[in-house]
Amino acid sequence: MIPAKPDWLRKRLPVGAGVQAMEGSLERSRLRTICQEACCPNQGECFSKGVATFLIMGKVCTRNCRFCAVDSGIPETLDAGEPLRLAAEVKRLGLRFVVITSVTRDDLPDGGAGHFARVIEVLRRECPDVGIEVLIPDFQGSHDALQAVIDAAPEVLNHNVETVPRLYPSVRPQADYRRSLALLREAKVLHPPLTTKSGLMVGLGETREEVLEVMVDLRSASCDVITIGQYLSPSPAHHPVVEYVKPEIFEKYRRDALRLGFRDAASSPFVRSSYMAEKYYRKT
Ligand code: SF4
Repeated sequence: MIPAKPDWLRKRLPVGAGVQAMEGSLERSRLRTICQEACCPNQGECFSKGVATFLIMGKVCTRNCRFCAVDSGIPETLDAGEPLRLAAEVKRLGLRFVVITSVTRDDLPDGGAGHFARVIEVLRRECPDVGIEVLIPDFQGSHDALQAVIDAAPEVLNHNVETVPRLYPSVRPQADYRRSLALLREAKVLHPPLTTKSGLMVGLGETREEVLEVMVDLRSASCDVITIGQYLSPSPAHHPVVEYVKPEIFEKYRRDALRLGFRDAASSPFVRSSYMAEKYYRKT
């Protein structure tokens, strides 16, 4: 039986003028955010502060992860005008730090790495003072794809392991835990000054020991920053919530992560991998 939602997960959604202005601007620019596509519970809070995580390369994913609200199917053709529109929007919103993510594009020969690189390059040219974090897919383990993104020189490279390895077959069947760890490890080897980051959701049926083992694995891949948040099921067709993890356990995870050597750790029920990304980047 799915547990009832506890009080600490009830959040008032701010829907002020700032939120509406942001929604209108994104729509006019024909840009998408993962905030909207994944129904993020922090959307009101982030939009009211002028913060968003851009979703590039369409809104249809080639994978079918059971935790994710994004549609799966045949993706759209790449939009060559997207990098410039995104840079113009970042300028218009006056952002100092931007997070960019994408759907997984296993249909493209380079997994979309070239498009990521173009977005970073255009942003650098148009908005030279903006910090850039990319939250990338695993590119099916392609060294060349990862190299292309790193050559474009983002400040932060984020790749989520999402859950503990035992749950991969039921939560993200087309992904591979070891491949994700290898990507993070390789990124650091290719460019040691790069800040690397990863995150996982809890409440999917993992044990505390398994979460600690993931932290140890991420540290052994030289990952700098970790994010841990509560999984919320987008619909009854998705993976169910097995547990609502108590805030004190999140705090314990945060202390465990710092003890294990992460430069910073964000761990609380509403944390998402891009939540307050600028704050966690500036602190590292
Ligand atoms: S936490 Fe991230 S995905 Fe959620 S609304 Fe904020 S910026 Fe968007």
